[in-house]
Amino acid sequence: MTHHIVVLGAGYAGLTAARRAARLLRGSDVRLTLVNRSERFVERVRLHQLAARGIPPGQSLFRALAGSGVDLVVGEVAEVDAEARAVTVAGRADRLTYDTLVYALGSAADLDAVPGLREHGFAVADAEGAGRLRARLDELPGGAVVAVVGAGPTGVEVAAELAEARPDLSVELVTRSELGGGLSPGARRHLRRTFARLGVGVREHQRVTAVERDGVVTAEGARLACTALVWAGGFRVPSPAARSALRTDERGRLVVDGRLRSVSHPEVYGVGDSASAATVTGGETRMSCQAALPMGRYVAVDLARTLRGRRSGRPARIRDLGLDVALGRRNAVVQLFRGGGRPVGAVLTGRPAAWIKHRVVRAAAWLAGA
Ligand SMILES: Cc1cc2nc3c(=O)[nH]c(=O)nc-3n(C[C@H](O)[C@H](O)[C@H](O)COP(=O)(O)OP(=O)(O)OC[C@H]3O[C@@H](n4cnc5c(N)ncnc54)[C@H](O)[C@@H]3O)c2cc1C
Repeated sequence: MTHHIVVLGAGYAGLTAARRAARLLRGSDVRLTLVNRSERFVERVRLHQLAARGIPPGQSLFRALAGSGVDLVVGEVAEVDAEARAVTVAGRADRLTYDTLVYALGSAADLDAVPGLREHGFAVADAEGAGRLRARLDELPGGAVVAVVGAGPTGVEVAAELAEARPDLSVELVTRSELGGGLSPGARRHLRRTFARLGVGVREHQRVTAVERDGVVTAEGARLACTALVWAGGFRVPSPAARSALRTDERGRLVVDGRLRSVSHPEVYGVGDSASAATVTGGETRMSCQAALPMGRYVAVDLARTLRGRRSGRPARIRDLGLDVALGRRNAVVQLFRGGGRPVGAVLTGRPAAWIKHRVVRAAAWLAGA
């Protein structure tokens, strides 16, 4: 009987899994269905560029998913019934039943993190959000203050790109911790120097508790006036897994074993931002392409082995090797980690780091098969 594999989400992880599995299982009695909110793959790691300055013609961040060797269903995944092995897609009368499910719904901006954010804030976690921010920035006159909340890699990339693209704006980075926390002293120094040069104000140890139409309020009692606010204060994962019988962690991520299978339902694999797996370098997978791509690749290979009657291979070896953070177009910082996410002392910065970053970003979309 035909084995039906359903892949939910066509981001870096899901698309990698779907396209590779389609290739590896060619000629087998297998049907592959890919379900995604839109009919295009989005090069998500470049959305801050889209928001800050637009993308030059001929360099689109979007790739059509049709023709990828799988059946494409465009729609919103509403529910996963793990007991019945069925997925409900909004607007479709029939449920999609599966023999194997690959859960790869990624992550989104947590717009309910503080009051007022959903009404007054912007985010770059998806193409629609980045497009809205772009339109808002186009309206802003010189001198307007843009606050970027969150100094993780996304917040840092947004602030730097914005300050470089729009030097007429006043960009303020607000963080409840420290700029460059978790990076080596050399990387932190480079970040501070870069932000000073770009004129980005850095407000550390300020936890934003509310967003208003024209400013933010912090737990420390400060009020920062701003004309636009960009939230990079953390991602949440889509809710279908958490609302199902599948075992999830406190953030709603699917909990998977060393072979990336759900610990509660082994016919379900979890990959990318919406799954939590152990890395071989210590700790859990970080929300990153660095984890999403090998997770997707592993699942495709494991599926091909097991559906051809072979035993599952050795467990996945997902590594957290480091961070590569863009600071505008001609500058970046590459920070390698030793085990457990501890930074090594030496860092690469400036143009050589930007060159690497550029290639890594391009390679990520290519490796996903986009
Ligand atoms: C601005 C920005 C810069 C970044 N820079 C880097 C970087 O430099 N390096 C790095 O490693 N990582 C970076 N990241 C993080 C990286 O983008 C994610 O870790 C990566 O996209 C995860 O891949 P994924 O396949 O798990 O999820 P995604 O790429 O988010 O894909 C998930 C897919 O599922 C779809 N989907 C979600 N919910 C539903 C639903 N209910 N129904 C149907 N479809 C749904 C989405 O539309 C999407 O197509 C960045 C993120 C952002 C926002």
